[in-house]
Amino acid sequence: MKDNSEMNDRYALVTGAAKGIGKSCVLHLAKMGINVAINYRSSKKEAELLLKEIEAIGVKGLIVKANVSDLNEVKNMTKSILCHFPRIDILVNNAGIIDDTLIVRMKDENWKPVIDTNLNGTFYCTREFIREMMSNRWGRIINIGSIVGSRGNAGQSNYSTSKAGIIGFTKSLAKELAARNITANVIEPGYIDTDTVAVLGDKFKGTIKGKIPMGYLGTPDDLGPIVAFIASDQARYITGQVIAVDGGLAV
Ligand code: NDP
Repeated sequence: MKDNSEMNDRYALVTGAAKGIGKSCVLHLAKMGINVAINYRSSKKEAELLLKEIEAIGVKGLIVKANVSDLNEVKNMTKSILCHFPRIDILVNNAGIIDDTLIVRMKDENWKPVIDTNLNGTFYCTREFIREMMSNRWGRIINIGSIVGSRGNAGQSNYSTSKAGIIGFTKSLAKELAARNITANVIEPGYIDTDTVAVLGDKFKGTIKGKIPMGYLGTPDDLGPIVAFIASDQARYITGQVIAVDGGLAV
């Protein structure tokens, strides 16, 4: 059951929301009474099931297909959302991909889609909804970065560049929009056990565990409640921050 009736008139969009970290964000926002648009690119069945889950919680929801790296698809997604929701108050830019390789082997085909999805997608979606947040004088931009955006990582120059770009983008928004009661923050996950990390294999997971002070990989539910808190009214004075959720890995 939802537990926060004062948020009933808030509307959120979570990108890449059908599974992993995005799904946990959707569920925790819905539990606060927030109505949520669920963006997916290919995971339609998962998105449909998630919609049923949040409707059972008692909030309004919808699913919207769009590749966030494609401006036309983002514009069409906005139109579809605004047919059902009056506006978007809370935007969680979560959609992201990796395509790891060392710089000597990094082709344009490895570089561009990662920047287009993670960074340009974040920009496109934010630009669609920011004007309305500004006129309403309330908004939340929550961008999912990565600890490698702050620290860099061998084999991830494309990915860490996209996530580092998100930090500059977010801090600039925080300064531009604070006077309108709009906060902008980055949440930086460490290693979280989702499909993104599954492709790296069990051997890699074993090695990485040894480097995490907490001694284990995080789960999506280590992220969802933090995002929901940042979306809440209680978090109104937190802006321009880069918040690591990583079991101490970046310390
Ligand atoms: P998942 O692989 O579980 O989810 C990624 C999501 O992104 C999917 O729902 C996918 O949608 C969506 N997506 C990918 N490309 C696009 C696109 N072009 N348009 C719309 N949606 C897209 O991974 P995570 O949950 O782990 O990742 C979520 C975020 O967290 C990403 O930004 C990732 O970089 C970040 N992150 C994850 C970490 C981890 O350890 N797992 C660590 C640090 C950051 P669909 O399935 O519908 O195609």
